[in-house]
Amino acid sequence: MGIKNIQSTDIHRITSGQVIVDLVSIVKELVENSLDANSNTIDITFRDYGLDTIEFSDDGDGIDEDDFENICAKNFTSKLETFEDLSEVETLGFRGEALSSLCSVAKIVIQTCTAKSYPKRSDLIFSPTGALISKKKNVTGRKGTTVVVSNIFQSLPVRRKNLEKNIRREFNKTVNAVINYMLIHPNVRFSVNNINSKTKKKTLVLGTQGTSKSTILDSMISIFGTNGAYGLVPVDIEVQDLEMKLKLHIGEFPVTQKLNIKFAGYISNSSFGLGRSASDRQYVFINGRPISSKKFLKTINEVYKSYNHVQYPVVVLNIIIDTKFLDVNVTPDKRTILIHNENIVHDVLKDELSKLFDSLQNLIPKNEE
Ligand code: ADP
Ligand code: MG
Repeated sequence: MGIKNIQSTDIHRITSGQVIVDLVSIVKELVENSLDANSNTIDITFRDYGLDTIEFSDDGDGIDEDDFENICAKNFTSKLETFEDLSEVETLGFRGEALSSLCSVAKIVIQTCTAKSYPKRSDLIFSPTGALISKKKNVTGRKGTTVVVSNIFQSLPVRRKNLEKNIRREFNKTVNAVINYMLIHPNVRFSVNNINSKTKKKTLVLGTQGTSKSTILDSMISIFGTNGAYGLVPVDIEVQDLEMKLKLHIGEFPVTQKLNIKFAGYISNSSFGLGRSASDRQYVFINGRPISSKKFLKTINEVYKSYNHVQYPVVVLNIIIDTKFLDVNVTPDKRTILIHNENIVHDVLKDELSKLFDSLQNLIPKNEE
């Protein structure tokens, strides 16, 4: 049939399925958008675990009327303009792809109100290609954005069937993904609800207080119950001036850059670990981005093992590192982050955690003395 280019609307359908992989990615992307918009409150309401609808409601900045046409346009973002900006990006989103992709695999309605347009709220409906097809004005009680997603994966029948078959498992995975954001943003008030569309019964699945004074420990207690923060010790470590060779741009000679790393969070004291179930309570972030890093958990668990060889630690750890040593753009779903000379970061973490556990052991009075 010769070599021809695929029609642009079909390309969009093909690539969208890679950005919005599953239920987890839908929820991650929309929670990240709310966080990027400086929200203090994020409410997520599933209907039938998402098979019917998912509603995300935040009290963030809202979206300006001038931007309505572009919200769901592919690669339209308010967070990045050039490739160079990518090396400094601090927002969770930056590819301008989530909403446009979501339009192609589900139905999207957005209600939004900015401080400027308050109390007028706009209700927007988008087509599968991301075009704005309807715009209505209403009166609202608050500033912020609500995104309602329905008909998830209707355009990808195999994925839809798969979702229906595994909905409880997918839902649980999704809730666990939200826990990451609840932990790293203790000052944001989260709630996750599920409504059974037959009985109309609404169940609170998870929630945090999210006051301006709330800490990670408060979130741990809200999420895991009154013992959720039991035996945790703070991690607050800063290592400065590590030398790292880094090629800044292609074609340039490597220059030695100084690297500063911070580790912040909580870990179980070596005498207060948990059984295997602790592995469900291990959360690692890089600059506040949740990462799925088996390697970091391995490093942490190995150190812990030399102090407590029968248990595992609960851990919430944010690794703070200059963005120029990172590549956050490895996969469309942004779940993988590359770190330049990652081994150095592991070595430092290993040393510093050992020092921390050593210092804690010195605090335990020795009986025989
Ligand atoms: P990205 O997050 O990569 O910029 P998205 O497709 O997720 O791309 O979102 C497109 C744009 O829509 C964002 O850049 C932002 O300006 C706006 N936006 C999306 N969700 C929200 C929200 N909840 N509150 C305010 N603005 C939002
Ligand atoms: Mg986004």
